[in-house]
Amino acid sequence: MSLFASSGPVFLESRRGSHDESVAIFGVGYDGTASFRPGARFGPDAIRAASVGLETYSPEQDLDLEDINLRDLGNLEIPYGAPGPVVEKTYLATREILGSSMTPLLLGGEHSISAGALRAVAEKYPDLILVQFDAHADLRDEYLGEAHNHACAMSRCLDVLPSRKLLQVGIRSGTRKEFSIIRSNKTLLPTYPSTLSKELESHQSPIYLTVDMDVFDPGVFPGTGTPEPGGIDWNTFAELLAAIPAPQLVAADVMELAPNLDPSGCSSILAAKVTRELALRLSLK
Ligand code: MN
Ligand code: MN
Repeated sequence: MSLFASSGPVFLESRRGSHDESVAIFGVGYDGTASFRPGARFGPDAIRAASVGLETYSPEQDLDLEDINLRDLGNLEIPYGAPGPVVEKTYLATREILGSSMTPLLLGGEHSISAGALRAVAEKYPDLILVQFDAHADLRDEYLGEAHNHACAMSRCLDVLPSRKLLQVGIRSGTRKEFSIIRSNKTLLPTYPSTLSKELESHQSPIYLTVDMDVFDPGVFPGTGTPEPGGIDWNTFAELLAAIPAPQLVAADVMELAPNLDPSGCSSILAAKVTRELALRLSLK
């Protein structure tokens, strides 16, 4: 795993280095296209630092990190500047992780990075579908002249997703054009666990879950670049995650925590708890 920096903290109860069949956490601290309030570059290490305050046991899932094989590969060494090379490097790293029979769990960083990880996962699972938890549609074709802007994250994901199947939950912000795309493709689901599980069971396909943390309400998650009122709370998140059939979930990411924007530190703790739940769910694959 030569692409990763080898020092620094690790996520709760995980170990350094790679190991077959493990869930592999890795960070990409990039926020170069942040249009409003930067800071997502500090996301991965803030999640690790906050994780030490959590229990390893999840009452919701009745699973414990102590019983799974969890690795933390550290942060990808990335060039700052334009996003294209960072997305490409994220793709190469994810391909390496999958090639070592590990299950990728990416910590961002801004949402544009997801397309790199998704591309590698879609190469391994050609019928992969994408589930997006987010406040924003992210369906712009380009933004401020940059195709890899975080406002275009799902457009770039669809470019590398052969099934072109996207399911969105929590979206409450976007342009008229984005919402007309949503309506004509029927991508947006209501925030009900039963609707999500019914939809996913009807597909029976492998699932990549991308969690833009701004899907949460700013009242519980202010630490993000573009907060949007009207979001979900923890209990809704836990129910939605439980609605995703564990055997189908093959990769996930936790994006857009900007810890510097929440001096209370609670946003980092919430992102760490989301990461714990995802690691546990991914271990059931
Ligand atoms: Mn968002
Ligand atoms: Mn997003």
